[in-house]
Amino acid sequence: MSAAPLATAEIIAVGTELLGSTRVDTNSLFLSDRVASLGIDLRAKSVVGDDRGRLAALFTAAVARTDLVILTGGLGPTDDDLTREVVAGALGLELDEDPAVVASLEQRFARRGLQMPPVNRRQAMVPRGATVLENPNGTAPGLLIELSGELGEIGGELGGRVVVLLPGPPRELQPMMEALCAGRLAARAGISRAHKVSLFIAGKGESHVEEIVQPIYSRWTAADPPIETTILSAPGLVELHLTLRSPDPVAARRVLDAARAELLAVLGHDVFSTDGRSLEEVVGGLLRDRQLTVAAAESCTGGLLMARLTDVPGSSAYVLSGVVT
Ligand code: AMP
Ligand code: MG
Repeated sequence: MSAAPLATAEIIAVGTELLGSTRVDTNSLFLSDRVASLGIDLRAKSVVGDDRGRLAALFTAAVARTDLVILTGGLGPTDDDLTREVVAGALGLELDEDPAVVASLEQRFARRGLQMPPVNRRQAMVPRGATVLENPNGTAPGLLIELSGELGEIGGELGGRVVVLLPGPPRELQPMMEALCAGRLAARAGISRAHKVSLFIAGKGESHVEEIVQPIYSRWTAADPPIETTILSAPGLVELHLTLRSPDPVAARRVLDAARAELLAVLGHDVFSTDGRSLEEVVGGLLRDRQLTVAAAESCTGGLLMARLTDVPGSSAYVLSGVVT
């Protein structure tokens, strides 16, 4: 029996530090982008501290209402790392030590001439029936649990749902999520994917852009399939993002290209980028094409202009010099 495609998702970021003012939950930004790319509708994101009761309540509610629940953080070896135990407990799954994970952890320490501290054995505990996700950049393996009757009573009730546990450090989480998006999660997602186009606009404010484009994009909302339009203002620019969910990438591209052309026709030269390139990349490209160079004398910007221009790889081809006076 093949389960219904995953339609909805929630993300839970676990870590008391994320509730304070010193650490930001950036993982859920990355994860929301990857979830959207699978055509799965992200319904909620939450941040919760390293607290057994509150994490259990949040997770239990999430898995009852959502097809895919992704948790990040709390997979470390220390006492405050609770995600593995809490999720297994909430799903009624036993935790077994996985000898292959123990061996790989021991090898990881041995490669650096170290003995594995006994606390790291916690990271080899695997909820029964879960798939271990390799972590090439750290000790904490990720876990993927596909719920089904075979996992016991709760698994039956929530059959077809998927729970993913990923480590907190972004450089560990990101390659694991990329692998899942190319493999196991792609296999469980529907055939629709989110297709996107962005236009970056300078020289007009957000409400002015809205006034010009609203009559156009309001028609797209009612189309089949609809195009979702988001207007965001950022320092020095306004971003227009169009998203279309479709199982057919060629048809989606055609519709989005036509939509972009309609917007370009009314926004004209104020659009400086339609391919995601920043203003400094576009300016750099124009200078390079014309074989021109640039120099700047800055005062109160303190070198910000040059900093932006030189942030682009290869910018030494056209950036000559700058002085701050
Ligand atoms: P943990 O997996 O909970 O042991 O997290 C280890 C480290 O990963 C933390 O100290 C943070 O620096 C980082 N981290 C955890 N959660 C997140 C998150 N949601 N976004 C960005 N970084 C995180
Ligand atoms: Mg933590």
